[in-house]
Amino acid sequence: MNAHDGMYIGGEWRAAAGGDTIAVLNPVDEQVIGHVPAGTAEDVDAAVRAARAALPGWAATPPAERAAGLAALRDRLVARKDEIAETISAELGAPLPFAQAVQTGLPIAIAGSYAELAASYSFEEKVGNSTVYQEPVGVVGAITPWNYPLHQIVNKVAPALAAGCTVVLKPAEDTPLTAQLFAEAVHEVGLPAGVFNLVTGLGPVAGQALAEHEGVDLVSFTGSTAVGKQIGATAGAAVKRVALELGGKSANVILPTADLAKAVNVGVANVMGNSGQTCSAWTRMLVHTDRYDEAVELASAAAAKYTVGDRVGPLVNAKQLARVRGYIEKGVEEGARIVAGGAEAPLEQGYYVSPTIFADVTPEMAIAQEEIFGPVVSIIRYEDEDDALRIANGTVYGLAGGVWAGDEAEAVAFARRMDTGQVDINGGRFNPLAPFGGYKQSGVGRELGVHGLTEYLQTKSLQF
Ligand code: NAD
Repeated sequence: MNAHDGMYIGGEWRAAAGGDTIAVLNPVDEQVIGHVPAGTAEDVDAAVRAARAALPGWAATPPAERAAGLAALRDRLVARKDEIAETISAELGAPLPFAQAVQTGLPIAIAGSYAELAASYSFEEKVGNSTVYQEPVGVVGAITPWNYPLHQIVNKVAPALAAGCTVVLKPAEDTPLTAQLFAEAVHEVGLPAGVFNLVTGLGPVAGQALAEHEGVDLVSFTGSTAVGKQIGATAGAAVKRVALELGGKSANVILPTADLAKAVNVGVANVMGNSGQTCSAWTRMLVHTDRYDEAVELASAAAAKYTVGDRVGPLVNAKQLARVRGYIEKGVEEGARIVAGGAEAPLEQGYYVSPTIFADVTPEMAIAQEEIFGPVVSIIRYEDEDDALRIANGTVYGLAGGVWAGDEAEAVAFARRMDTGQVDINGGRFNPLAPFGGYKQSGVGRELGVHGLTEYLQTKSLQF
């Protein structure tokens, strides 16, 4: 893979301040496919300075021009979509069709949505004798994870640029090649120097330096709850804006009147996509006691259709593999019953885990409470609707979920009582314009659509 040996700062690729590098591996065969520089606080400082210098000009650029820049960026991503999908497939291990359709196609559509929103959003309104202006927050420090490498970048960078902010991005160390391709696309568009900057590096070094930098006005982070809490505390102490998109343990609630086969099949598919490495995955399946055995049978049959290596890719790295296997072993120790998959390695090479279904899971077990981030579904039994709601709401998380019922109104009534940011009713499709984000410890703030744009704005009112 073609990798840059510098940082993209101030509109050019510059040599990194230090000499350390990060090796990028392909999780399918565990081979090194490239190296990127490991940024230091010095690189972060240079990038933040470039972003600050570019801020007044970009903030004053008419929204229509920013919209044109984002439309051009979308077009560059479209032009290079095959290369992007191949890169994501290589550094994340995602099967190519998934890398093309979801990992690449979706963020391209989202970049396009922000080109439209920048052009149509009203950055000014009249309230009585006041004019209220929506102004950019300033310099954004964006820290992204590896699970959807381009999507997580576009979710932050596109609305920030649309709002008139400038950005320093620190992408995940496992997937920096996609971030470098994104920087190339920005460069090809010819956005003003310093509007977008990229510093690759380790989280506790480059990431932390970015979160702590006094020249950053807003930190937008997606990743683990542990790091999110630390970033929230740092930002809070500095009275800095912060957006956190953290983990989830979302419930797929199958009410007694639901089409059981459909609800179970869609529920299993929801977790197996991206090998379970999706923060909004429905990793808990809640089924009424009367239909429980039937659901378990349907789920284990569904899991058998997900062939490892073909439809289900590996996990991103050896650490995630050990973590997911550890959870599977813990589930067995705690008394849950494996009805598909298990902790054994399905292939000799690569960080693969078999699609795994647990039955007889009770709500207090670790596999019912903690984010596993692998292809593992926990099926939990409930006695009645109140019991289902207690279980659904009974974790520290609240990111997403699903509700299935014979009657849509019944499903909606249940969904309204769930402490979670997004619920799909009877398999409702993902909407890239709908606000995405968490209740409780799943996060602070929203991404996507208008709600994602307003995260990067602050208001000023003038009185007449
Ligand atoms: P992580 O939180 O360590 O990494 C996410 C990003 O934060 C990366 O860019 C990383 O370099 C950076 N980072 C790490 N430590 C930092 C620090 N001290 N200061 C600033 N930035 C820092 O996540 P991980 O270790 O890659 O994954 C661990 C678990 O996190 C997963 O198993 C999963 O449960 C969860 N996760 C959630 C999401 C999500 O979309 N919500 C994505 C990836 C991982």
